[in-house]
Amino acid sequence: MAKYVFITGGVVSSLGKGITAASLGTLLKKRGFKVSIIKVDPYLNVDAGTMNPFQHGEVFVTDDGAETDLDLGHYERFIDEPLSDQNTVTTGKIYSGVIEKERCGAYLGGTVQVIPHITNDIQERLTKAGEGQDVVIIEIGGTVGDIEGLPFLEAIRQMASRVGPENAVYCHVTLIPWLEAARELKTKPTQHSVQELRRIGILPNILVCRTSHPMDEGMKNKIALFCTVPPGAVIEVPDEPTIYQVPLSLHQRNLDGLILKYLSLPFEKEPDLSDWRLVVDRFMNAPRAVEIALVGKYVQHKDAYLSVVEALYHAGISHNVKIKVRSVESADVETQGVEAMLNGVNGVLIPGGFGSRGIEGKIATIRHARENKIPLLGICLGMQMMVVEYARNVCGLAGAHSQEMDPATVHPVIHLMEEQVGLARMGGTMRLGAYECALTPGSAAARAYGVERVSERHRHRYEFNNTYRRRLEDAGLKVSGVCVGRDLVEIVELPGHPWFLGGQFHAELKSRPVRPHPLFAAFVGATAQNL
Ligand code: GLN
Repeated sequence: MAKYVFITGGVVSSLGKGITAASLGTLLKKRGFKVSIIKVDPYLNVDAGTMNPFQHGEVFVTDDGAETDLDLGHYERFIDEPLSDQNTVTTGKIYSGVIEKERCGAYLGGTVQVIPHITNDIQERLTKAGEGQDVVIIEIGGTVGDIEGLPFLEAIRQMASRVGPENAVYCHVTLIPWLEAARELKTKPTQHSVQELRRIGILPNILVCRTSHPMDEGMKNKIALFCTVPPGAVIEVPDEPTIYQVPLSLHQRNLDGLILKYLSLPFEKEPDLSDWRLVVDRFMNAPRAVEIALVGKYVQHKDAYLSVVEALYHAGISHNVKIKVRSVESADVETQGVEAMLNGVNGVLIPGGFGSRGIEGKIATIRHARENKIPLLGICLGMQMMVVEYARNVCGLAGAHSQEMDPATVHPVIHLMEEQVGLARMGGTMRLGAYECALTPGSAAARAYGVERVSERHRHRYEFNNTYRRRLEDAGLKVSGVCVGRDLVEIVELPGHPWFLGGQFHAELKSRPVRPHPLFAAFVGATAQNL
């Protein structure tokens, strides 16, 4: 049976609970345990699929097509295991499941209540996710004290009785703020959030204290005394220059050893963290740098293109070059001109997106990169716009467009997929998740991947219109990847250009710090050619 690590958050949000959970996962996996991680999001949305990137950052997609919170991306990148719909739980998902069962008469006429029906359902999901695992880490989104988080806290409180107290450990990530006026760290908010946890019956075993200033022993002892944990279980985690440092830093402070002790698991074998050390060293100390323009429409939100930026970093690490990302709002390209916005960049990346705002700026950017032989990588919407640009400016199809931007376009080189026509619902209706793609031998794509078939993840409604394939290919834009078993273009590229390739899928989702995605690696390699 699996053992459980519950991670809650106190005082404020954005303390890095997700990175803490992911880092702990890395450490436990490196010690030889089978680990999985679950994100619990107490919001009412069934999944993250309908959420605006401005509010919530990117939507991470798993192989089985779940549209999830971006923390799952951290988990996958850190523990290097593919996750699934099982790894994400929301209030919306739990309640809709329970209500559906009630409609089918599953509760035999009983009154359906938060306790026990909702809390049991949560626990059943957590138990199921534990099958075949040694340790399951569960991160509860939000902050202790939030009304909507209560059923989940109650469920994890009960889990200790379900699995036995020796199989559950509670880890509370909290803030020790620095008060500039007093020039000292303050423990009171942490005391209050632990009191709140205890009020609902959870006694945290370990406190992960986020601080901007070093804590002394006296302060740790004080927190331990007030919060009823041993002084050794008060772990100070300072801000780190990169998230890749966090597993190393947590290990140095023995968080993994402590967790294993609580769970009565063997803790003597040290994890081999040499690959993470190399990642941090190269990330911090790469001797050369390339600047890559990320031309999108949600660039003000730092998490909207999180996996894309991470994938660029991973590729930079593999080439031992530093990546500087220049965030360019595509609408600004329209008003300020492409030369001004892209001046001096070594490469351009056009990420995914929805809707028509800023699209002409993307098309102008693509033209500029194509004509000036600047390496360019297009992801999903980016690939679609590469097709539109080529159709307009090289094939002479002046009215070429995507139907997403202009439903009445003269030349719909990108059109709505057949199965998407007339759908009335929004959530979970796109072409989602992993599909296999066959690569054209000898193409830049095939050379980058080094194999003939790949599996990539998708999230889109529109696709390449095959009516125009011949015309585009004759004009030089080659199709180098097609979906297996279906005539759907997945990759286009331009031979003779240093790197001009677009993929209908989200390659960034499968990149790992120690194993960069082949297309990102080849793209960054091309950007570093002329340094
Ligand atoms: N909006 C485009 C589509 O639905 C692209 C989606 C994306 O970039 N994820 O096909």
